[in-house]
Amino acid sequence: MLELEDALAHILATIPSPTSESILLRDAARRVQAERIESPIDLPLFDNSAMDGYGVRSRDVASAAPESPTRLRLVGRAAAGETFAGELAAGTCVRLFTGSPLPPGADAVVMQEDTRVEPNAGDQVLFLEPTRTGDNVRWRGEDVKRGATLAAPGEVLSAGRLSLLAAAGLVRVRVGRRPVVGLLATGSELKEPGEPLVPGQIYESNRIALAALVCRAGAIPEVFPLVADALAATRSALTEAFRQCDAVITSGGVSVGELDFIRPAFEETGGALQFWKVAIRPGRPFVFGRYGEKVFFGLPGNPVSALVTFLLLVHPALLRWQGAADISLPSRAGVLAESLANPEGRRHFMRVKLDASGAVRSAGVQASHILSSMAAADGLLDLPPRTTLAAGTAVQVISCQG
Ligand code: AMP
Ligand code: MG
Repeated sequence: MLELEDALAHILATIPSPTSESILLRDAARRVQAERIESPIDLPLFDNSAMDGYGVRSRDVASAAPESPTRLRLVGRAAAGETFAGELAAGTCVRLFTGSPLPPGADAVVMQEDTRVEPNAGDQVLFLEPTRTGDNVRWRGEDVKRGATLAAPGEVLSAGRLSLLAAAGLVRVRVGRRPVVGLLATGSELKEPGEPLVPGQIYESNRIALAALVCRAGAIPEVFPLVADALAATRSALTEAFRQCDAVITSGGVSVGELDFIRPAFEETGGALQFWKVAIRPGRPFVFGRYGEKVFFGLPGNPVSALVTFLLLVHPALLRWQGAADISLPSRAGVLAESLANPEGRRHFMRVKLDASGAVRSAGVQASHILSSMAAADGLLDLPPRTTLAAGTAVQVISCQG
């Protein structure tokens, strides 16, 4: 039986190296950046006003004060998107708005609130506050210098990063290709939700959750029909899924019962089994294998076990497949509001709730068929074997919801 870290290291060493594709920036949210991008321009692209106000030569209004205002002649107006033709001469000012280019000769902007225009003297502006060079000016290149790095390989493209790339005028980006992941559920007892059940049957509930988690990991889920517990049916379902997908995930059928056909079917279709047990709870039976250049994850059927093993072992693999630098699940710090115990010899990834104040509690009954505690959980708490953590212990909660 493998330790979790060894199992993950093996998986990461086995998945294919990332390949990249060029896509439109507008489709690139949450994709993994594949190359370094240098800014083709300075940001801001030109000196401009940070306020609605007046562009001035700061020397002209250096000593303005409410009791002794400085009077300048208004010689023009430049809205955002326009430019003032000509150079600002001594004793003059130009009406500007937020984002207006600073006219040549101007070196400061006085905000409208620090000025006054007298009735019947619309070509004069009174300045009421002393002004220094640079006041209310956004200088060319102060945000990003041309040639500076806008995005680095391995970064997941966030809204903020996309905004920066768009501001620099980029239309396309090169990102890691997203693996297509086939999702199969095995079990002769399973029916599609919405269909009538006969006694002994249950609704299938793993593929929908796994599809959500596959999307969260940036990959593309492909849901396949239900697979009955029979060797031939399992074999042909696997063959078809591998024909269409880069990776295949099954749930169920990985234990030691005589109706557990995943391992023999996978090997009979040409797959090479790498390991099939990991020392965690929930989720001990977990099959990993190679299928040519493709990979296979056989998750346990119990819905909680399937989700937890996906999060711990498949999520990081799918991110690395796309070239992501950070492949860990996000986690949040919290403090136990009650003591939590793991009397067993295997690490327990316990379903917990984490409230806004950081208090961590069990999310409910922890058996691997209990879905209500999985639905209620905010995260998983990694509880070492034969350990009790007392109330008040600082812990990390691994985010578990798609
Ligand atoms: P297995 O791993 O195939 O032995 O299944 C373990 C338990 O999980 C059994 O009670 C199955 O009925 C249940 N199970 C397996 N697959 C699913 C599924 N896709 N949806 C809901 N329950 C499942
Ligand atoms: Mg089964």
